[in-house]
Amino acid sequence: MTTHAEKYQDIREGVRSLCAQFSDEYFRKVDEERGYPEEFVKALTEAGWLAALIPQEYGGSGLSMTEASVIMEEINRAGGNSGACHGQMYNMGTLLRHGSKAQKDLYLPKIASGELRLQSMGVTEPTTGTDTTKIKTTAVKKGDRYVINGQKVWISRVQHSDLMILLARTTPLAEVTRKADGMSIFIVNIHDAVKSGMTVRPIPNMVNHETNELFFDNLEIPEENLIGEEGKGFRYILDGLNAERALIAGECIGDGYWFIDRVTKYAKERMVFGRPIGQNQGVQFPIAKAYINVEAASLMRYEATRLFDEGKPCGAQANMAKMLAADASWEAANACLQFHGGFGFACEYDVERKFRETRLYQVAPISTNLILSYVAEHILGLPRSF
Ligand SMILES: Cc1cc2nc3c(=O)[nH]c(=O)nc-3n(C[C@H](O)[C@H](O)[C@H](O)COP(=O)(O)OP(=O)(O)OC[C@H]3O[C@@H](n4cnc5c(N)ncnc54)[C@H](O)[C@@H]3O)c2cc1C
Repeated sequence: MTTHAEKYQDIREGVRSLCAQFSDEYFRKVDEERGYPEEFVKALTEAGWLAALIPQEYGGSGLSMTEASVIMEEINRAGGNSGACHGQMYNMGTLLRHGSKAQKDLYLPKIASGELRLQSMGVTEPTTGTDTTKIKTTAVKKGDRYVINGQKVWISRVQHSDLMILLARTTPLAEVTRKADGMSIFIVNIHDAVKSGMTVRPIPNMVNHETNELFFDNLEIPEENLIGEEGKGFRYILDGLNAERALIAGECIGDGYWFIDRVTKYAKERMVFGRPIGQNQGVQFPIAKAYINVEAASLMRYEATRLFDEGKPCGAQANMAKMLAADASWEAANACLQFHGGFGFACEYDVERKFRETRLYQVAPISTNLILSYVAEHILGLPRSF
């Protein structure tokens, strides 16, 4: 029987050979310049990897979620950062599942070919944070248009995307029976929006992750840009989150292997006290432990994606996979930094860059506490805390 690790060799080799054209120096320079890995994202798009989840009828490759998570894993294992382009993978799922035929026909083939990028999703707001049902951005119907007012924060890849999926309240919270009702999602043409009411303010941050504050001042969007039914947007967003968790788990697993590959090599070569540092069990054990945890997280990832691909409920597994993978990559990152000694802090070793990149996954796109709270309440049946 083939193991999970042996499966999907064609995909692994395909992504690896593309990534091999982009050196450590390339990713380091992009990070130093706080730039965007334009050539890398272009190459991934042209090779069809970012259209993996788009069905073949729309010009994509119609791969499974398992295969898509392997693509993200390999990008991060090769030293890249899928965060620059992963939005493309899961955002289009919302359009695919809930968009009208006209919307799918209009956008999906262009997204698959790379003519259009759908990299952004605007959910988080400064005053409400994780308490999403309290969002204050509103969309008010006026004739054949919706008028958007409000503010978003931490909205990524806006400057490198053509389209964004935006969550806004269409019915005030006080007027709905269930707080998850009354929110809607829209597809926003970013280029049109910046000319007519949307202001983008970049947020300099710890990682080279292009992310922004957005301000909406009477931004008008055509009614045909509403996705699905008015008032059901929050449920549509939630629907897409399992895919997002599984894909991000893949990225963390890729990071975990990157750290373990690098630290293992370094620990074999670095001589101190007349022997390789990796001969000391004090060095070996934290690396071995991190490796065990990355492998375990990977199995939970495969379980989550298997259920997803079979159309079965996978909320518990997708959340657990994301948390296990984020914790394992962070553990591997710490071992890698620690055993590189001072060199771990030198940019030319790339450890500090990957260390910063993988730290993000403890907080975004969902913080570890919120996953624990989900498992406590929804899986274990403990009393609701908020
Ligand atoms: C680089 C970056 C990129 C991002 N990209 C996007 C994007 O493209 N689109 C988008 O919509 N959002 C994006 N986000 C936002 C991200 O999803 C949120 O930052 C994240 O969900 C946490 O929300 P918050 O920052 O408002 O934290 P808060 O909700 O203010 O929470 C702060 C801390 O308190 C903890 N906490 C809060 N409530 C509880 C509770 N009840 N019990 C226990 N602990 C609790 C949390 O775990 C968290 O650690 C991005 C964030 C970052 C940093």
